[in-house]
Amino acid sequence: DIFYRELPKVELHAHLNGSVSFQTIEKLIARKPHLNIEHNMTAIRNGQRRTMDECFRVFKVIHQLVDTEEDIFMVAKDVVNEFAADGVKYLELRSTPREEIKTGLTKRRYVETVLEAVKQCKGDGVDIDVRFLVAIDRRNGTEVAMETVKLAEEFMLSTDGLVVGLDLSGDPTVGHGRDLLPALVRAKNCGLKLALHLSEVPSQLEETELLLTLPPDRIGHGTFLHPDVGGSQTLVDAVVKNNIPLELCLTSNVKGQTVPCYSEHHFKFWYQMGHPSVICTDDKGVFSTDLSQEYELAATTFGLSHEDVWKLSQQAIDCTFAPETLKQQLKQRWIDLRPRVF
Ligand code: 5GP
Repeated sequence: DIFYRELPKVELHAHLNGSVSFQTIEKLIARKPHLNIEHNMTAIRNGQRRTMDECFRVFKVIHQLVDTEEDIFMVAKDVVNEFAADGVKYLELRSTPREEIKTGLTKRRYVETVLEAVKQCKGDGVDIDVRFLVAIDRRNGTEVAMETVKLAEEFMLSTDGLVVGLDLSGDPTVGHGRDLLPALVRAKNCGLKLALHLSEVPSQLEETELLLTLPPDRIGHGTFLHPDVGGSQTLVDAVVKNNIPLELCLTSNVKGQTVPCYSEHHFKFWYQMGHPSVICTDDKGVFSTDLSQEYELAATTFGLSHEDVWKLSQQAIDCTFAPETLKQQLKQRWIDLRPRVF
């Protein structure tokens, strides 16, 4: 449906290496034929599902393909251009700074390279505003988390306003939030916004309770927060009281099997309460989707009208980590881009 493609959109939950398209993977495979990597190792097609463990193995394969500055630059440019082509006007991209001894890649250069790609897109006149969230992989523990926060802090202070926050992601079955809390507190105190994956799997109640005390500025997934799925009213109350927006990724959750089917996605729970809920892709490459499809899926599954969908995309602007002036500009653009009839 053309409506969803033309709808101006905000994307707030996109992992760089999970967003690499089929076409870009093709170019990467051609650069590294000796790795013997095939497409079915880097993407989960429609109708297929994977365990969480299998999903995390897919990221490892992609990381093998993306291990030089040149790769990261190309991947970041392609991803930004693809989101723009899909009608995304504001994108918050997140990625875990990675060091690769073999190729001489450092974490600092990793971040710089992504930011250079973003700037080049801007210079090329691509119609999209991009900001960056530095990601902590929870698997790597306390010290790496603290180093990552320090790096993010430096970038936030030294550059052009492109680095606005921090993400906490990685395999939710590994590690515990309590070990990462000092790093997250530091990040919060220095002005980095926090977008944290919370309650992605059922066993994280205690961790979620702890991390909600920060409180985070946005929640990724929050699949198991509400009481119907083993969460609790206390958790829901904390999210509501602090008015913390949720980033919701339908295809990702169904293909990754944390949600049994689209109609049982927790979007329904939060949307019906009128709680700020933002439709996102998570990993458009790995899960073979794009943001237009995700909006259409939400609309068809939950019976949303075009007007409802319009409001949903407009309300996402207030959930961004963009400065107030940019939020106002985006709101004006939405008014300008609104079709006269739906
Ligand atoms: P990157 O940070 O390398 O750009 O993107 C891939 C990484 O994002 C993965 O290795 C993982 O740490 C994180 N990631 C991507 N999708 C998900 C997800 O659905 N859940 C969690 N917890 N982490 C994810």
